[in-house]
Amino acid sequence: MFKLKSSVLLFLLLLSVLLIAPYAYAAEQPTIRVGLWTNQPSILLRSEVDYSIKDVVTGKTIKDCTAQERVIIAVKPEGMTVNGSVVLSARLSISPKDKDEKQAIEVNKRHYRGTIEIFRTTAKQGITAINILPLEWYLYGTASKEIPVDWPLEAIKAQAVAARTYAIHNLGKHRAEGFDVCATTDCQVYGGKEEEAAAVLRAVDQTFGQVITYHGQTIDAFYHSSGGLYTEDSENVWGKYVPYLRGVEDYTENTSHYQWEKTITAKELELYLHKAGHAIGTLKAIGLSPLQTAPMSAEGRGTSGRVKTIQFIGSTGSVDLTGNQFRNMLGLASTLFDVKMQTPGPKDIVVDFSETGGLGSKTIALNVPPDSRKSFLCDKDNLRHLTGLPGEVLVFSGYGYGHGLGLSQWGAKVMAEKAMPGDTTYFIKILQHYYQGVQVKKMY
Ligand SMILES: [Zn+2]
Repeated sequence: MFKLKSSVLLFLLLLSVLLIAPYAYAAEQPTIRVGLWTNQPSILLRSEVDYSIKDVVTGKTIKDCTAQERVIIAVKPEGMTVNGSVVLSARLSISPKDKDEKQAIEVNKRHYRGTIEIFRTTAKQGITAINILPLEWYLYGTASKEIPVDWPLEAIKAQAVAARTYAIHNLGKHRAEGFDVCATTDCQVYGGKEEEAAAVLRAVDQTFGQVITYHGQTIDAFYHSSGGLYTEDSENVWGKYVPYLRGVEDYTENTSHYQWEKTITAKELELYLHKAGHAIGTLKAIGLSPLQTAPMSAEGRGTSGRVKTIQFIGSTGSVDLTGNQFRNMLGLASTLFDVKMQTPGPKDIVVDFSETGGLGSKTIALNVPPDSRKSFLCDKDNLRHLTGLPGEVLVFSGYGYGHGLGLSQWGAKVMAEKAMPGDTTYFIKILQHYYQGVQVKKMY
């Protein structure tokens, strides 16, 4: 009786695990389709080994090529061409004849593992080349583009697991263009075989199939270069609440990208605003809460202090921009910044009273905005007034590099340096710090 009950319970338990966690288990690793070149007039192929070009639909060989032989695929109104001759095929598959994992196909002088497919773009004016390969091979060529390979292995493993999770979560992102992910920062930077490094291969192999999950589902594993002391809540960066993307302490002080500064003149900023369609006349003031130590709570800023909104007040109008809009407009490293105004020359003068029979001296500040400006602008604490003096510059000084969501790569490095020697699971601690409430699970 007891035996029967326990086996029924076990069955129900297994069934519920399978139903609740559809993404946590898979029999084998997925194949990924990476967009390498889109809408090109021609693509140059080559390989260090014999390779063949086949029609994807019929499987028929169109051309057998010997090692080092160069082939140009191009497009004419009547179809694709192979070395100038029109072929009937709508989709070509290129792979080494001997499918040893070490063999690669060269596309526009870069080496790629797996198979290459070439097809005409929807508009039929150009051709697209994609790389089809097992996900783990894709990661070999991805993680090394994202993180320096001489970093501690636990940091590279954290990056590899984040990259794997991001890729699986975003399979099909570019479906309309005929592939899963692109090879740029829009998805993840992928450099193919020559970008592979021994440390990355080790990190990918040691975490084979492991992904980050939240309530059994793969997460959207955003990562960035440096959080600049604190990462940000998701809703403060792109408006959407995501439970595991919370602002946490980032240990990046004194590392690269920790601090940055950008100086521009008030006139230049007016021009930037004008070009972006915000003609507000002469810039009079900037509305921005002062940056304080995180976690902070202030109008227009996120928990880390990242700018959510910034206001520009001019002589003929005003405009509110999001932190991201302003960051993109000026090409700033992050939205975690403050601003101050500076005018050339001495900021204040010292008046010596002894010459006129008085005692001591007095410092008089020169760089004070006229009172009339304050009343005109309906002054608030967070308004920074411009003096309007010639040569006035705005100094934006900030922290971190990137959007500030999820894993901070430089923070992961600092954490990994503190790991106990021989701790081969420390990458999980790093991931559970930057992605709150998550688990690392083996998916295949
Ligand atoms: Zn993309």
